[in-house]
Amino acid sequence: MANLKSIHSLVQKIKSENTYIDIYKICKALKIDILEKNLGKNDTAIKGFFVHHCRIKAIIINSDMPENLKRIILAHELGHALLHTEKGIKTFQESCIFKINNSLEKEANQFAADLLIDEDKFMELCQLEYSCEAVAAYLQVPVQLLCYKWEMMEEYNENLGEFPFQAKNNFLRDLEIPKIDDDYIY
Ligand SMILES: [Zn+2]
Repeated sequence: MANLKSIHSLVQKIKSENTYIDIYKICKALKIDILEKNLGKNDTAIKGFFVHHCRIKAIIINSDMPENLKRIILAHELGHALLHTEKGIKTFQESCIFKINNSLEKEANQFAADLLIDEDKFMELCQLEYSCEAVAAYLQVPVQLLCYKWEMMEEYNENLGEFPFQAKNNFLRDLEIPKIDDDYIY
């Protein structure tokens, strides 16, 4: 099992090699194919999955989702691809059920949060006392992903304090990025 430190150092390595986080480019360099498929729009539709068969690694993503959500799912699947393929697990599927207690799912979320959220920008917005929804909207991530990033940051900064938001079990089903709206700012 990967721990926070090993996930963080993997993300640091990716960030040192990429000035802008373009998941498509990162996957291409790692020879992970990305395929878009029409998988439906309802609540139970599969958002994406990762397959590892023989030497082929591919992420299949639901083409019916908005681009900003595709980016989240791609980062999560990339986490599975980099952290979990050695376990002999061939597929990871993201559908309506999000098992927060499943350590592999948690690690993939930690990876995605650490990769997609810029720590300095996150801290800057927190210091301006924006609401969680406003911070999430500005950073174009679901609020729940902020919790995972906070948890990573706490590991390195014990003075950080508690994040004022609890991740929900049904995070993936309700996956939504808040819209930028002045009402969020208080
Ligand atoms: Zn997953």
